[in-house]
Amino acid sequence: MQVTSTPVIGLTGGIGSGKTTVARILKRLGAAVIDADGVGHDLLSSRGEVRQEVVLSFGKDILVGEDIDRQRLARIVFHDSQAREKLNHIMHPRIYSIVEDEIRRLRETKVVVVLEAALLLEAGWEELVDEVWVTYASEDKVVARLSQRDNLSPQDIRARLSSQLSPEEKVNKAQVVVNTDRSLLEVEEEVRGLWRRLNKRR
Ligand code: ATP
Repeated sequence: MQVTSTPVIGLTGGIGSGKTTVARILKRLGAAVIDADGVGHDLLSSRGEVRQEVVLSFGKDILVGEDIDRQRLARIVFHDSQAREKLNHIMHPRIYSIVEDEIRRLRETKVVVVLEAALLLEAGWEELVDEVWVTYASEDKVVARLSQRDNLSPQDIRARLSSQLSPEEKVNKAQVVVNTDRSLLEVEEEVRGLWRRLNKRR
């Protein structure tokens, strides 16, 4: 990994660990943010071949009308590792290629690029970025925040957590760790400091 004049940061972390919160702060500071999960959602909701392949693999039960119900799909894949692999096999190469093109385009613009991707490390996408930043929150905080935000049960949240690399493994693979167990104000302050350091190196 090398830091170029237009660094690309891979921002990842467990579910509910604060990725989007940190990405928003970085965007306000001037970064261009690519949301890999959003790319995946767009692919699922478009009428292209991805939707067709997913419906063929998972059956029409995942449809509400003509649309894929992402919550139904999530319930299946978070409880079944083979189903998860099947879905990743369909989605990841497509997301990768869209994100790769977007990074190439943004590198020309000389802004700092942030690739927010929940599964950056699980999918082995480190090669797309110059450094990896991981958001970390304790399990209790994640459960509390997600039960409030998504109305998920603690069991569902823990099933999702166990489908990902553990926070410790993510932290070990990161160049920067942003601990979001603290107040939003403190998190913002830390991210501002990281941003200043990043821009000093350019
Ligand atoms: P997901 O994996 O579901 O995409 P995420 O990692 O992007 O989640 P966020 O959406 O940023 O995480 O944060 C999860 C929830 O916790 C949100 O409702 C957010 O507002 C809240 N949150 C994040 N950081 C803090 C904090 N430091 N203090 C209080 N609430 C926070």
